[in-house]
Amino acid sequence: MSETHLANRLFSLKALIAQAAQQASRSPASVRLTAVSKTQPNLPIEAALTCGLRIFGENRVQEAYTRWQARKPCFPDLELRLIGPLQTNKARDAVGLFDAVETLDRPRLARAIADASAHHGRQPELYVQVNIGNEPQKAGVSIQEADTFIENVSREYGLSVAGLMCIPPAADNPGTYFSALAEIAARNGISELSMGMSDDFEVAIAKGATRVRVGSLLFGDRPT
Ligand SMILES: *Cc1c(COP(=O)(O)O)cnc(C)c1O
Repeated sequence: MSETHLANRLFSLKALIAQAAQQASRSPASVRLTAVSKTQPNLPIEAALTCGLRIFGENRVQEAYTRWQARKPCFPDLELRLIGPLQTNKARDAVGLFDAVETLDRPRLARAIADASAHHGRQPELYVQVNIGNEPQKAGVSIQEADTFIENVSREYGLSVAGLMCIPPAADNPGTYFSALAEIAARNGISELSMGMSDDFEVAIAKGATRVRVGSLLFGDRPT
């Protein structure tokens, strides 16, 4: 994808984000864009950087190293966010690269991230992923266990939780799920909400998303 092409898509996307924010009586600046760069080759990544994008979402640790390790020193304001499941044995690598992990969803992972943070001397920004549709095949802490888990993450592991993240059921009306996540955040005093992707970011913004994660609408279809 050419720079112009990506620039045009980014321009349209930003306009849609701003419009959705204004319709919800929110400031456009209160919604940040995570450009989901997973599986993208070099050309679109370079185009995105040239267009000024700095916040990127990745779903695999090793793949993210390949894509970002050499680039990271050249972009001091780069912000890499892990939005895919994290295995405990990769926690150290993940904390070494990522500025944020949005998929914290179990005590063993909290322990591993706490250890890795001590090792690296810095804690990534952490979001708890909630399995908001209670889908058996999906990652995330259940709605029933969310409050207790959020509390334990700080009390038992000394980690601070900055936000919540969810991926609602595919074929359903996402609005009710986004509202449910916002409610969990509100009653736990959490202000950041990572929700909404290419197909539903406008609904997510209406329901309070502070970060939307957009891949295909920005980069085009992902190479497989
Ligand atoms: C791939 C992915 C996205 C981006 O999806 P698009 O539909 O391409 O915008 C967002 N969030 C997560 C967790 C993903 O894995």
